[in-house]
Amino acid sequence: MSATKPVHAAQTLFPATQGSLLVGGVPLERLAQRVGRTPFYAYDRALVTERVRQVRACLPAAIGLHYSIKANPMPALVQHLAGLVDGLDVASGGELKVALDTGKHPADISFAGPGKNEVELAQAVAAGVHVHAESEREIRLLARIGEALGVNPQLVLRVNPDFELKGSGMRMGGGAKQFGIDAEEIPRMLALAAQLGLTVLGFHIFSGSQSLKAEAIAEAQAQTFELALRLADGNRDPVRVLNIGGGFGIPYFPGEARLDLQPIGDALAAALPRVQSALPDARLNIELGRYLVGEAGVYVARVIDRKVSRGQVFLVTDGGLHHHLAASGNFGQVIRKNYPAAIGNRIGQAEMEVVSVVGPLCTPLDLLAEKMALPRAEPGDLVVVFQSGAYGLSASPGGFLSHPDALEVLI
Ligand SMILES: *Cc1c(COP(=O)(O)O)cnc(C)c1O
Repeated sequence: MSATKPVHAAQTLFPATQGSLLVGGVPLERLAQRVGRTPFYAYDRALVTERVRQVRACLPAAIGLHYSIKANPMPALVQHLAGLVDGLDVASGGELKVALDTGKHPADISFAGPGKNEVELAQAVAAGVHVHAESEREIRLLARIGEALGVNPQLVLRVNPDFELKGSGMRMGGGAKQFGIDAEEIPRMLALAAQLGLTVLGFHIFSGSQSLKAEAIAEAQAQTFELALRLADGNRDPVRVLNIGGGFGIPYFPGEARLDLQPIGDALAAALPRVQSALPDARLNIELGRYLVGEAGVYVARVIDRKVSRGQVFLVTDGGLHHHLAASGNFGQVIRKNYPAAIGNRIGQAEMEVVSVVGPLCTPLDLLAEKMALPRAEPGDLVVVFQSGAYGLSASPGGFLSHPDALEVLI
């Protein structure tokens, strides 16, 4: 069979020499030796740096770039990103600690997420990070904590917008949601904050995730600005922060093309003069998770066994859904599709076969690739799953079946 099968966009980011995939410039087998054991995640530092550069090149300089830590909270990676982006967004007390440890200024760290508990809120107020309140309870609690600590809470209101990002992979705005405060409730919350002696610094309006359509993102951003200007009218104080969300997606599946950033940058540049004249004191930020790190990471597992069952070849690896739930298709996907994958030490090998790559768990859900054409592989070979830099290890049920954790390296 010829080696002319279409190459997924993801693979073009990782070169190969002499049949071996290079991650961070290191041939995969050598990297596996260095890491010491499989499975592992490897994140390519240079790819992350380059991705941030591309985003900055396309967006107006007035738009601050934040990294959403939940996409990948590995401390070394967050530290690397802290030096590249303007701010870090956290969603828990644990992520808050990782963000503060980077030395990033607290005013450039924001804490959003439903159900914040009293301890993490107190930590956030004491540290001086921006707290994005998601409910009336959180606003009241912040006022009490601020009083007890003698510190002014840095309060931003997370808004559940009255629209959503069209065609996004995960709908997180519009309609009834556990995220944010309904836009129509904001005037009442502004009055409540004023009554409690709290200054509202601004608004956080997130309308969706994983969109590959530039026009849909630009449209959501335009609606975000409209909503922000309306809400700002009701605020006693000048708006100092406006987080307009993110939603930039990456291509996971065959046929998906990379998001074109230029139309988004152009639309933002066109919208800015009006927003900046209406909100002259506002720092405008976008928040990106997977777009910054998702394509920079691979998951690597070793083939343990090669079995044929009723004519179908199974490569059984030491990795699976306990490390990489998303690649198994069980992280909220409606229809299971294969993540792009390769045999990392047999790149370009002519002899191919159709195989299913499975993990060691006792469930048919433990699937890394289903009936995929890959170079013919043997035990000892290294299976690579691309697009694994976001929502990988930290988004997987690591305790299931008590296998060892995957390692993580940043190179
Ligand atoms: C998860 C999340 C993000 C990051 O989403 P990505 O799809 O990884 O870019 C951004 N903002 C909020 C509010 C989130 O909850």
